[in-house]
Amino acid sequence: MRWSWQILKVAGIPIRVHATFVLVLLYAALIARGEGTLGILESVAFVLALFTCIVLHELGHALTASRYGVRTRDITLLPIGGVARLERIPEKPRQEIAVALAGPAVNIVIASALFLVLFLQGEAWAIATPRTMAMMLQRNFFARLLATNIIIVVFNLIPAFPMDGGRVLRALLATRLDYLRATQIAANVGQGIAFLFGLLGLWTQNPILLLIALFVFFGAGQEAAAVQMRSAFDGIPVWRAMIRDFRTLQASEPLSRAVELLLDGHQQDFPVLADGPGSEPIGILTRSDLLHALAGGHTDRKVGDVPRHSCGVAHPRDLLESVFQRMQESGCPAMPVVEADGVLVGMVTLDNVGELAMVQAALGHTKRSEATGNRP
Ligand code: ZN
Repeated sequence: MRWSWQILKVAGIPIRVHATFVLVLLYAALIARGEGTLGILESVAFVLALFTCIVLHELGHALTASRYGVRTRDITLLPIGGVARLERIPEKPRQEIAVALAGPAVNIVIASALFLVLFLQGEAWAIATPRTMAMMLQRNFFARLLATNIIIVVFNLIPAFPMDGGRVLRALLATRLDYLRATQIAANVGQGIAFLFGLLGLWTQNPILLLIALFVFFGAGQEAAAVQMRSAFDGIPVWRAMIRDFRTLQASEPLSRAVELLLDGHQQDFPVLADGPGSEPIGILTRSDLLHALAGGHTDRKVGDVPRHSCGVAHPRDLLESVFQRMQESGCPAMPVVEADGVLVGMVTLDNVGELAMVQAALGHTKRSEATGNRP
């Protein structure tokens, strides 16, 4: 993830912090500014302690996954929580359940330890009534941390993606249904719950609840779409998905030629070939590159002189899944496909890949995915 730095490494897993996390610390300091230096320090310390609990939660996922041979690329701390990027989702539903539950289980252990601290402080009695509990929460750092850990557990067990409970639900469904169907149902349930949350947020005029509802609603939709894409691409090589019938541009051709081809309407992005025989692709002229150049009034320029996206190339035997990921990461809408000798044989575009995914889904291609899983 861009804008994030590694701060330490635990069991070989890099722990990274996103730059925006600094904003949370500043906010913590800001809201306590009326309470003197000690108050500010305590407020910042609370955020640090809370995020330590979140790192431990994510490590719970990561270390359980490693027991099933699944590596974790890294754990990143964001203002909204942590994300452990597992290389894939464990194959067996029981393993996915174990990995999903390991996170909240860590917070239960932490909460129990904090309760022991309260007990040793002689404060544990305060949970007896809501009034004494509220007073304890105000004065006791550990009580606040305990309460927050319980909130993390409850919140994560909501059966909605991208929460851990959503994964448990999906895995339970996947013991009876195929993985894609299970994901779709779990995502629908998640979105239904998010909608109810949203209504409740409006009813009680609680902006945080509304924010959570939106976060869950879109997270659930994304998860379903990602699994559908992945399952459609599972094991498919690039040559099966590439288009073979397309136009190319020579570097020496004028931009007006590109405009002509664009207006023809069959294609939006064009591989640009070096001049001369056996010409190799030197990049892709995307529609937005072209429009950019035209907006600058450079109609007489040569195609080769227009700044282009550096999208790299794909090989026919590459797996579509990895090429698709590279395209998404680089923001390239298209990628030329070349043989080992550099000869251009095809092109993959986000559009044709998306269509392939829809066709595959319609055909009921439902193999279990092996792809990268994001696990909040
Ligand atoms: Zn979790």
